[in-house]
Order: sequence, then structure tokens, then C-alpha cells
Amino acid sequence: MSRIAYVNGQYLPREHAMVSVEDRGYQFADGVYEVCEVRGGKLIDERRHMARLDRSLKELRIARPMSAKALSVILHETVRRNRVRDGVVYLQVTRGVARRDFLFPAADTPPAVVVTARSADPVKLEATAAEGIGVITVPDIRWQRVDIKSVALLPNVLAKQAARDKGAREAWMVDAKGRVTEGGSSNAWIVTRDGKLITRPLGQDILPGITRSVVMDLIKDQGLAFEERAFTVEEAYAAREAFVTSASQIVQPVVSIDGRPVGNGAPGLIASALRRDYHRHAEVS
Ligand code: PMP
Repeated sequence: MSRIAYVNGQYLPREHAMVSVEDRGYQFADGVYEVCEVRGGKLIDERRHMARLDRSLKELRIARPMSAKALSVILHETVRRNRVRDGVVYLQVTRGVARRDFLFPAADTPPAVVVTARSADPVKLEATAAEGIGVITVPDIRWQRVDIKSVALLPNVLAKQAARDKGAREAWMVDAKGRVTEGGSSNAWIVTRDGKLITRPLGQDILPGITRSVVMDLIKDQGLAFEERAFTVEEAYAAREAFVTSASQIVQPVVSIDGRPVGNGAPGLIASALRRDYHRHAEVS
């Protein structure tokens, strides 16, 4: 947990870090967020995360709370005050505090900003990646604009809990045509029997993952076979490898889908190589 949180202009100890009951994030999930990896005390891919934040805010017509520079100072300061070397920094911006009403509040209502940071154990993360994770498939019951990184994550909460209840670590959500959209908190990838990397193209039905975009740069750089298209659950069962990407897990090998082993049931060579090489491509700030 974050020991110190930035809340609307102040750095506060956790027990005093509170938001109003009238915060529209709390009342309506009327807000957006970002999660950035912290490595060696530095932010990974901050520029891309901030560009996506801007896009999410614009799509929902929430005002930008402050300049990118000021926001960057707060992210770094929250990491520093929590003494995070390896972990994540979380940023949430909501439409602010106002009397509960569906309609947007007055135009001069300032957006509400919360930033927290917490450590993760890199040894434990590497141990998990060395083993790989299991995923289950569930129907994708989310709204039709999941490209916006909104805090409305109830379907993701239910999907990931369903995975946990079955002893898996992630849920792959599946559209009406039987094709995987993405994970509850990650983008989904497979490697076909003939060695081609496949991930779903961007659209309103998946989050444009930052880790996904950096991995795509890495794939192009290394000249690996790659196709951006939707894949079915059946194709995933038959894949040689599978993995997920997210800022908190980078590249995480998937070794079982719905209890069936992927490939030989061990982390794949391509996934493991992408994980190893990721930070040589990522931007550090
Ligand atoms: N899809 C969903 C639904 C997510 O919640 C996340 C993680 N926030 C991702 C994909 C991965 O995005 P990123 O690589 O930017 O962390």
C-alpha cells in the first residue's frame, strides 16, 4: 500500500488521505486512471502513459487538471516519498466534487487528482514469470468504449475474481464471435504453431496498452513474424505460446488456458525473450 498519497494538492499519510463522498469518481466512476511501472526509482514509459491519459480525459470531456510537467513532478515526488524503487505509481483524475447529479458539474469545478505509489518485490515477480500464469476465459460484458481507461472496472473485477476462484491469475474476455478481446488488466497475445505473434488490433473494444505498444516496437526491431488480428479461444488453446502485457507485469507468460496447457505447459521462448529485452526499449524518466 501507498504510505503517502497525493490528494488534490497535498501529500498526506494514508490514514489522512481521503476523497469527498461527493467525488464523481466515487459516485459515478466518472474518472480515468493510469498505472506506470517504477523501476530503480524511475518511471517507465511515462510519456506514452501521459499521452493516453490526455486522450482518456479528452474522450470524457474532463479538463486536464494541470500541465504535463506539473503532473510529472507529482508522480516522481509520490514515488520518492514512498521510497519506491520497484513497483507502480497510480494516478486517478475524476470530474471533481459536486452535488450528486448525472449532468456534468459547473465548468469551473476542478478535476480531482489522487496519486499513490507502492513497491513490488522484483524477486517475486521474476519467480512468477519463470513459472508462468494460468488464465480462464469469460464473456466480455463491458461497455463499448473500453479504449478509454476509465475507473469503471466492475466487469474486470468480476472477471479477475472468477479467475482467482479457479486458481488462475488472469481472465481473458471473449467477444460475441468467440474471439479474445483482452485480459481483465492486460492485453492478450499468442504465438502460433508456425511462430507468428498475434494480438488484437486497436479499436474501441480493447485498451491501447502501453506495454503492448512497446512490445510491438520490440517485435518490429527484432524482425519477428507478427500479425495484428483478433484470435479465437480455439486458436489460443492450440497456440505454441501465450502471454499477457501490462505495466505492472511487463510480459507475463501464460502456461494454461481454461486448465489446458499451452504448448508444453512452460513459459514460451518468445515471451521470455520479450520480457528480458523489454526495458532496453522502454523509455525511462
Ligand atoms: N487492458 C486492460 C483492461 C488493462 O486494465 C490494462 C492495464 N491497465 C491493460 C490492458 C494493459 O495496459 P498497459 O500496458 O498500459 O498497462
